[in-house]
Amino acid sequence: MRFSDITGNEQAVSALRGMVDSGRVPHALMMYENEGGGALALALAFLQYLNCQHRSGGDSCGECPSCRQSAKLIYPDIHFSFPVTSGTKVSGVVKDLVCDMYAPYWRELVTSNPYFLESEMDAALGFEKKQGIISVAEGKAIIRELSLSPHSGKYRAVVMWLPERMTVPTANMLLKTIEEPPDNTVLIFITHSPGNVLSTVSSRCQGMRILPLTKEEVAGALVSIAGASREDAAAAAEVAGGSIGAGLHELSGKDGMDVLRDVFREIMDSLLRRDLLGALEASEKIAAMESREKQKLFCTFAGENLRKVFLIQQGMEEIAALPASDADYLRSLAASCRQPFAVSAIDALGKAVTMIDRNVNQKIIFTNLIDRLFVCL
Ligand SMILES: [Zn+2]
Repeated sequence: MRFSDITGNEQAVSALRGMVDSGRVPHALMMYENEGGGALALALAFLQYLNCQHRSGGDSCGECPSCRQSAKLIYPDIHFSFPVTSGTKVSGVVKDLVCDMYAPYWRELVTSNPYFLESEMDAALGFEKKQGIISVAEGKAIIRELSLSPHSGKYRAVVMWLPERMTVPTANMLLKTIEEPPDNTVLIFITHSPGNVLSTVSSRCQGMRILPLTKEEVAGALVSIAGASREDAAAAAEVAGGSIGAGLHELSGKDGMDVLRDVFREIMDSLLRRDLLGALEASEKIAAMESREKQKLFCTFAGENLRKVFLIQQGMEEIAALPASDADYLRSLAASCRQPFAVSAIDALGKAVTMIDRNVNQKIIFTNLIDRLFVCL
């Protein structure tokens, strides 16, 4: 992965490049992103640049032995940590599992799509709906790895994906290493839920926020990465919330948009019938969606539809850009809902997104959401 392979995120690229060029590489970096937002791709491009033997023009060469090994994820001085559990690919006692046991599956996943979602990792590593952890055994493996001399004589790195899943004893064991790693060592953490990372860990790291991309940037990436048609890419980008990973997931799912549309209509139809139970049952389908990103997509999708309803009610249908497949339905909603409903509902959906980001229990989020919609309809 080279910096030139990265879509958008110019500020992050420039900051990472600057760290290498100035020789001021932090000992620990905490990247915050929404799922599929590109932090792992950035970390890979950064480490490849750091260890490249022939950097030029602000990028790695892509051809030297270090670059070739980095591209295949076999550079010997980069260790990857991620949450694991037992499953179809590796069995055993969970607390004894270390990431090296999953190395071939991890490499295949990351080299084919560094923007993967959490649920896609669970599937690729055979976890079968169980949630992985980063255990004490993995903590010991990291410390052991860093106690050895680097193979290359250059920088060593640990990339930890989802430090929020480190157990407390693992985190405590690593605190000293995070604060004072050996010379020429960098630890990179990538989190989707910064509020759940132990503050003793995050306070020892330099923070870096990876911002969501624009719809145009996501669409462009979907064309270049997945070879999608411009039309499909634009449709997927519309519901991807600025995440390339969510966009790729959307493209790969045959009926992603249809599911969102069906659930939205089921909820609205139930609410209009004053059938609270039916609406709550429909909302359980959102809570059961496979990733937080997908749940947020639902909220964004519903919010955009209600914005269209609001515009129709204000007599501004021409700027609502109604898609042909939804136009009749949205007009009928506009005729059935009280005027203030759309505004209150959009506000409630926005609050739900914030709570999803804070990792609040999903059932509570969507039950509260339906209650609010029911009251203001
Ligand atoms: Zn190189």
